[in-house]
Amino acid sequence: MNALAPDKPGGKGTDSLLRMVADSVPALIAYYEPKNLRCVFANKSYAEANGWTVDSIIGKTVREAIGEAAWRVIEPQVERVLKGEKVEYIRPLTLPNGEERVVEVHLIPHFDEQAQMLGAFVLITDITRHQLAERSIRDSEERMRKFAAATNEGIFFHKNGILTDVNEALLAITGYAREEMIGHSTLEFVAPQWRQTAADYMREGGEYPYEAEVAHKKGHNITVELVGKTVLLNGETHRLGALRDITARKHAEARIQYLAHHDMLTGLPNRAYLTERLTTILALARRHGTLVAIMFIDLDNFKTINDSLGHHVGDALLKQVAARIKEVLREADMVSRLGGDEFLVILADFAAPEDAAKVAEKLLQVISAPIALEGRELCANASIGISVFPRDGDNADDLIRHADAAMYSAKDHGRGHSRFYTAGLSDEGAETLARESRLREALQRGEFVLFYQPQLSVGDLRLVGIEALVRWRHPERGLIDPSEFIEFAETRGLIDEIGHYVLREACRQNKAWQAAGHAALPISVNVSAVQFRRGDLVAGVKRVLEDTGLEGRYLELELTESLLMDTEIVGTALAGLRALGVKITIDDFGTGYSSLAYLKRYPIDKLKIDRSFIDDLGTDADDRAIAVAIINLAKTLKLTALAEGVERPEQLEFLRVHGCDEFQGYLAGNPVAAEEFSAFSRS
Ligand code: C2E
Ligand code: MG
Ligand code: MG
Repeated sequence: MNALAPDKPGGKGTDSLLRMVADSVPALIAYYEPKNLRCVFANKSYAEANGWTVDSIIGKTVREAIGEAAWRVIEPQVERVLKGEKVEYIRPLTLPNGEERVVEVHLIPHFDEQAQMLGAFVLITDITRHQLAERSIRDSEERMRKFAAATNEGIFFHKNGILTDVNEALLAITGYAREEMIGHSTLEFVAPQWRQTAADYMREGGEYPYEAEVAHKKGHNITVELVGKTVLLNGETHRLGALRDITARKHAEARIQYLAHHDMLTGLPNRAYLTERLTTILALARRHGTLVAIMFIDLDNFKTINDSLGHHVGDALLKQVAARIKEVLREADMVSRLGGDEFLVILADFAAPEDAAKVAEKLLQVISAPIALEGRELCANASIGISVFPRDGDNADDLIRHADAAMYSAKDHGRGHSRFYTAGLSDEGAETLARESRLREALQRGEFVLFYQPQLSVGDLRLVGIEALVRWRHPERGLIDPSEFIEFAETRGLIDEIGHYVLREACRQNKAWQAAGHAALPISVNVSAVQFRRGDLVAGVKRVLEDTGLEGRYLELELTESLLMDTEIVGTALAGLRALGVKITIDDFGTGYSSLAYLKRYPIDKLKIDRSFIDDLGTDADDRAIAVAIINLAKTLKLTALAEGVERPEQLEFLRVHGCDEFQGYLAGNPVAAEEFSAFSRS
């Protein structure tokens, strides 16, 4: 007992040694006498764990020492130990600082030789850490099991290449039953051509993903992605493998590869792929000393068709054109779609540039043959630019660029043709592009404005109409006349937007004038043939009239004669306009090919005698005759005759004598901005 008594100052050496040992072990130690269950010894940890010091705990009963709550928990155990039993149990312990621990408690009875109980040892060890570790292992095994069951990944364990466990997913992927796999070599389930790879991977203990094929029970192979890992199971190293079926991903990859190289709509190779192939083709041609031609094909009127008939018609047209181009080409040639309405052809097998020109001719021919789409016949005309290797460049980029420049040049020199590249063309193309983008910018910035010119009656000089004429208010150059940009806008597909702006603005302005109390007059708007050939002019006009609130009879459209030859489209369009109450004027009459038959057939209201005839009325007998003839023709057909460009009183006098109805020109008034025109029309 002495040995276990608390260390006292000046105590025996063995006592203090024991005390030191007891205080250093990572356990709580105490000794209680059996009669009253009073504490005889406690090490520092035990005393402090119960909120005492080693001195103050001595003589306390268990109940006092550990507190009422703990006592209730351990009382039955104490009874067992007092009966002489060795007791061992695990219980939670809350430290005085509130920390929750799990402890393992040993209660050991102490007997003398006569089996008389002398006391009881209490030995408590903190097993919180072990418990947590144990639980985490249990949890992770559980998680692993759940994961293996839940995942679509095939999971297997093997020891030295012999399968020890597999999950359901692996069975599903391979088509085998569990008992057909366990105990077998992993390699049996690998497709033969992949066995070496798999074996090498296992041998080196690889832990990175790799692709291989698994042999399905039914004989086919399945592409999988595999990853291995060396794991410790019950002290032994095993290999864990996880694999996933990537057939779908493989398909997707192939598809993406295809998409990256092809144009979705036509299925033709795209620019990226073509450039790649062209580089190879050029390398071959260089080696064999042969020629390669690059043809840049651009449809002339695609935008019009696309905008007027809708994208689905445009798309269908592109597909047809693609098919037609392919028909003309030979095996060694290649065609790709660069986007929009641009195609690029590589001719790899020909003897002289003239042969390429012949192919281009053929292409123009097949492309321009009428295409039946949705019950109507469409004509897609194309322009082709050609560059030839090695003459016009020795790399893909230069050759494509030069073919492009040649194509622009072909367009500028009257569409529907092919042109070879010649040095200097590139600059021309660049200039065209710059001009075009400047014009688009002008549209966006609202730099286009309308000027208005009065139309008067010849008889009593009353204001009878207004012509709207577009101007470009250039920030640096000032006002620019339409002659500088209308034709260009027509060839570059910009006229639609400009024309649409003009139509809307003219109607809006006319309505505003009416609302402000001016006399209600028709406003004349010039419509380009390009605009007119679009199928949706009538719908566009209708919408503008609705939006602006202008009545149809206060709008006149000025067309040129040549347009009337375009039979069918024009017929329906004119009828549609007539139905809206809109009037039709033939502008610059006498300068184009006109046919009296057309004048009779279509609902036309007015003929504008071209300025050139009026100019020389005083001097040129022919012009006088023509002017008179047109006035009479108009009378016969019950149309209004209007003379343009009247500058001098004697011209007006001539017109009066010959019965011309209306006139327009500097004599009556220049085209002026809207505000100025309001002032004019009031006076
Ligand atoms: P146009 O429709 O025949 O227009 C008449 C042109 O003659 C106008 O030139 C006008 O300013 C000019 N002019 C009027 N009176 C006289 C005169 O007494 N003497 C002379 N020498 N000239 C006179 P502008 O405005 O330069 O228009 C030129 C052409 O541009 C127009 O010819 C028309 O074909 C076209 N244009 C004008 N505005 C538009 C438009 O909004 N859309 C389209 N598509 N074309 C337009
Ligand atoms: Mg006009
Ligand atoms: Mg005119």
